[in-house]
Amino acid sequence: MQVWRALRAVPGWIFPLAAGLVVLILPVLGADMATTRQIQLACILALVVSGLNLSLGYAGELALGQAAMYAAGAYTAGLLSQAGHTDILVQLAAAGAVALLVGIVTGIPGLRLGSWSLAMTSFFLVLLVPDVLAVFGGNTGGRNGLTGMAPPTLFGVELETDGFYYLVVVVVIGWFAVMRNLVTSRHGIAFRTLKQSPVLASSQGVSVFRMKLSGYAIGAFPAGLAGALFANTDLFISPEAFGFTFATAVLAACILGGAASVYGALIGAAVMQFGPNQSTAFQEYALLVYGGFLIAGGVLLGGGLTRLFRAGGRRLDRAAGLGSAPPARTDTGEVDVPRVDGAPLVVEGVRKAFGGNQALDGVDLRAEPGSVTALIGPNGSGKTTLLNMISGFYRCDAGRVVLGDTELQKMTSGRVARAGVTRTFQTPNIPEHVTVLEAVAAGRYSMDRASMASAVLRLPRFRKVAHADVVEAERALELVGMAHLRNEIATSLPLGMRRMLEVARSVVAAPRMLLFDEVASGLDEDEIERLGDVIRRLRSAGATVVLVEHNFRLVLDLADEIVVLAQGKVIASGPPEQVQRHPRVLREYLGVEAGDEDALLDEVNG
Ligand code: ADP
Ligand code: MG
Repeated sequence: MQVWRALRAVPGWIFPLAAGLVVLILPVLGADMATTRQIQLACILALVVSGLNLSLGYAGELALGQAAMYAAGAYTAGLLSQAGHTDILVQLAAAGAVALLVGIVTGIPGLRLGSWSLAMTSFFLVLLVPDVLAVFGGNTGGRNGLTGMAPPTLFGVELETDGFYYLVVVVVIGWFAVMRNLVTSRHGIAFRTLKQSPVLASSQGVSVFRMKLSGYAIGAFPAGLAGALFANTDLFISPEAFGFTFATAVLAACILGGAASVYGALIGAAVMQFGPNQSTAFQEYALLVYGGFLIAGGVLLGGGLTRLFRAGGRRLDRAAGLGSAPPARTDTGEVDVPRVDGAPLVVEGVRKAFGGNQALDGVDLRAEPGSVTALIGPNGSGKTTLLNMISGFYRCDAGRVVLGDTELQKMTSGRVARAGVTRTFQTPNIPEHVTVLEAVAAGRYSMDRASMASAVLRLPRFRKVAHADVVEAERALELVGMAHLRNEIATSLPLGMRRMLEVARSVVAAPRMLLFDEVASGLDEDEIERLGDVIRRLRSAGATVVLVEHNFRLVLDLADEIVVLAQGKVIASGPPEQVQRHPRVLREYLGVEAGDEDALLDEVNG
C-alpha cells in the first residue's frame, strides 16, 4: 500500500511516457528485428485505433472509415516517395493533411444526415478504396500495389531499420500526448457530453455540428500518419491491406482496449498484433478471430481492458485510504452568487403543434430579472415544451421569444445558451464517466474560449481557462452543498444529487436567465431547502428565473409571479396571493370543488 500511495502521488502522464521511452530504446537493449518489427506494426495500428477512440469512444460517432483514412495516408506517402520526396516529415505532414481533408469532406454529409448515415458513408468509403485505387492504376499500381518507393529520409539522411523504428515510436508518443491533452481538457468533456446527448451539448453552447466534425476529422489525422509510416515500413502497399479485414481489426482493437480511453488503443493494438496476427493460419480465419474479439470486447468487458485496470486502481485507492470524501459541508453561507445582468423574458403568442397535438396554443408570458416566475400546470400542459421553445430546441409555429433585446426564437439552441440562458432537464442529463467537478465545469464551455490547439499545447491561455473552470465549478458545487462530492463519478449519484448537480452546472456560467424543469422532484427536505436558498440567491443576484414546479408549497414560497398553463394555454397569471385563489386554478389545477378552497389553501400554506 505504501508503494501504491507513492505511485499515486506521481503525475499520471509520467507512466505512459516512461513506458514509451522504454519501448523507444528496445533496439539498444538488444531486442531483435522480428520483435521490433511487431512493435512497430502494433504502434501503427495503435495510431489508427486511437483516432477511432476519439470519434467513436469520446464523441460517440459511428465512424467506420478509419481504414480509408489510413489508405489515404499510405498512398499519399507512397506517391510522394515515388516522385522522389522521401523526406518522412514531409510525407507525414502531407498524409495527415490528406486524411484530415478526407475526414472533413466525408464527414460533412454523413454528419449532416445523422449518425447512421455517417456509419454508412464511412463504411462505403472503405469498400471504395480498392476501386478508387484501380481507377488511378497508372500511379497507384491498382490492385497489384504501389511499388518504386525509396527508403525514407530525415533531414536528408536515409533512415535505416532502427532509425525508422525510433521515428515510429516518437510519432506515437507525440500523438498520444496530443490525444491525452485533448481528451482531458474541457473539449474532451464536451466530446463526452456530445456522445451522451446532442441536446445537452447544445444547451451548454456547444455547436453540435462543428464539434462532431472536429471529432471525426481529428480522429482521421492519426490514421493518415499511420498510413505514411506503414507505407515506409515495407516500401510497398497494396489495396488488400486497407480492406474490410483491417477495418474490423481496428474496430476490434478499439472495443477490446476500451473505446473511451486514451491508452486503450495501445493495449488493444498490442493484443491484436501479438495475438491473432501471429498465427500462421490467420489469413483464412482473420475475420472470424476479429469478430470473436469484437464480441468478447463488447459483451464481456464493456469499457474494454482499460476498465479492468481502472477498477483495479480504484480498489487499491480504497485499500490505501486515498480519495475518500472529506466530511459533508452543509453551510453554504460564504458562497455568494456574483451579480448578473438579467434581462426580461417576453414570450408572445407562442404556438407549437406536434402533429395534431396543439402542445402550446398562443402562450404569453413575462419573466422579470431579479424575480422568480413559476410555471405550473398539470402533466402534459406544455410546460417542458415551453422551456424547449425558449431554449431553442423547437421552432415556434408562431409567436416571439425575446430576452432583453435578443430575439431567441430564430436562434439555434447553442446560440441561445451563448446568449446567457441555462437550464436543467426534467430527466437529469449528465455525461458518463466524468467526475462531478468536470460535469459542472462543462457548463462553462461557451465562456472564456480556449481553442483545441491551445488545449493540446497546454498554452497559458488554456491553463488560465482551465483554472477558472475548476474554481468556478468548485464554487457552484459549494453553493449547492456538493463540494465534498467533486471527485465522484457524476452518473453514480442518486437522483436528488444529480438534480442539484444540474443546478450547479446551470449556475456556473453566470447566466442571465435560468430555466428549471421540475428540479425539486426527487429531492429530500434538506435538498429542497437548499434549492430554495440557491434560487433566492440567484434572484437577488439579478437573474431571471423560470421555475417549472409541481411542489405547490415551494412555488408559493419562492415565486414572485405564477403562470398557470393548461392544455397549452395560460389560464391564470399573477402574484401568488392572486393566483392561488383563482377559481380555474383551484378547479383545474388543484382539483378542488367550489367551497373546499379554504381547507386546501390552509394545507398548502402549511
Ligand atoms: P409538461 O411538461 O407540462 O408535462 P410537455 O410540454 O412535456 O408537458 O408536453 C405537452 C404536450 O406535448 C404533451 O401532450 C406531449 O405529449 C406533447 N409533446 C411534447 N414533446 C413532444 C414531442 N417531442 N413530440 C410529440 N409530442 C410532444
Ligand atoms: Mg414536463
